[in-house]
Amino acid sequence: MSKRDYYEILGVAKTASADEIKKAYRKVAMQFHPDRNPGDKAAEEKFKEAAEAYEVLSDADKKAQYDRYGHAGVSGQGRGFGGGGSMNMEDIFSQFGDIFGDDLFGSFFGGGQRGGRAGQRSRGVRGNNLRVKLKLNYEEIAKGVTKNIKVKKHVSCITCEGSGAKDKGSMQTCGGCGGSGQVRRVQNTFLGQMQTVTTCPNCHGEGSTITAKCSSCKGEGRVFGEETVSIDIPAGVQEGMQLNVSGKGNAGERGGMPGDLIILIEEEAHKELYREGLNVAYELHLSFPDAVFGTQVEVPTIDGKAKIKIPAGTQSGKILRLKGKGFPSVNSYEKGDQLVQVSVWTPQELNTEEKALLEKLGQSPNFKPSPDKNDKSFFDKVKEIFS
Ligand SMILES: [Zn+2]
Ligand SMILES: [Zn+2]
Repeated sequence: MSKRDYYEILGVAKTASADEIKKAYRKVAMQFHPDRNPGDKAAEEKFKEAAEAYEVLSDADKKAQYDRYGHAGVSGQGRGFGGGGSMNMEDIFSQFGDIFGDDLFGSFFGGGQRGGRAGQRSRGVRGNNLRVKLKLNYEEIAKGVTKNIKVKKHVSCITCEGSGAKDKGSMQTCGGCGGSGQVRRVQNTFLGQMQTVTTCPNCHGEGSTITAKCSSCKGEGRVFGEETVSIDIPAGVQEGMQLNVSGKGNAGERGGMPGDLIILIEEEAHKELYREGLNVAYELHLSFPDAVFGTQVEVPTIDGKAKIKIPAGTQSGKILRLKGKGFPSVNSYEKGDQLVQVSVWTPQELNTEEKALLEKLGQSPNFKPSPDKNDKSFFDKVKEIFS
C-alpha cells in the first residue's frame, strides 16, 4: 500500500511555514476527530494519518529527511512509523497536550482529560466547568478573532499556592498510604493471594493531609476571584457552538485540576445581512429606473463593501451570487456565498406630473409583463440556492 504524501494529507504546500503546518493540522484533526465522527473508521484513519503527517512535518529534522528521501527517510523512526498509520490514539492525544497545551484546540472537544494522566496521584478535587456566553458579530465570525474575557470564578489561592495548608509544615504525608494515595490490600482466597488497589480512604487519594489550614482560603486552596482569559475563536463558528478551553474553569480544591471554561457562541444580528448556514443573504432595493438601465451599486458584505454590477433590464426577485463572500466553514476549506436578491422599489406616493407620465408609459407595450419561458420558476431558483 502506498502512503499518501504528508503535505497532501495536511493540505499545505511544501513551502508552508511551521505555523501554517500547525494551523492546517488543527483543521484536519478537528474535521476527523473521533468525537465528531463516532464509529467512523475512515475518519479515524484520516485522523491518525494527519497526526502522523504532523509528527514528521513539525519536527525540523524529520521534515528535512522526509523532504529529501520521502517516506523511506522517516520510516522506522520515532513512535510507530513505517507500519502505516500505526500511531495509537493515546500517542495522538498526548501529542495534542504537548503541542497545544492550554490552547483552545487541545481541549476543543471537551476531552481535555484524555490520555497521559492515568495512574497519577489525584490531588485535591477537580474544579467545576464554567460556562460563559460570548456574543460575536458577523465580521468577527468571518475572520476569527481573539477575545479577552473577564471571568469571575474560583482561582487558586496565592497565599498557600493552592495547597490549602497554612505552611509547608502543616502538610503531612498521609500515614495511611505513605503518600501514594493508594492502598493495596492482600486477600487470601481459595485461588491464592489476591491484591487489590484502592484509593486511600484517609486522604481520598491525595497522598497528604493538612494539619493547619491556610487562613486566606480556609483550607480550600482556592478563593473567589477573576481572571482574564484570552480565547482564539476560529473563523466560521456558529450560534450555539461550544468551545472548550481546557483548565480555564474554576480552580480545583487543594491543588486539584481546574475545570474547563466552556464558551457558548452567540451571533449578534446584523443590520442588513442575514446568515443561512455558510451563505449570507442580502436584499437589495433598486429604483425602477436603475433596474431598467442597469447600474453599479455597493453592497455590504461580512468583509467590507463589495461593488456589484446590475445589468440593464434586471427583474425584481433576481438573485445575484457573490461567490466566496459567505462564511468560511469552521472545519473545512469550504466557503459560502453571498446571495443578493434584487427588490425593485415601487413608489408609494406620486405627484400629478409623475402620475401622468406613468399612465402614459403604462400604455406602451414594453411595460406589459412578458416573462421569458426559459426563465427558471421562482421555486426552482429557491431549490437551487439552498441545495
Ligand atoms: Zn490558601
Ligand atoms: Zn492516604
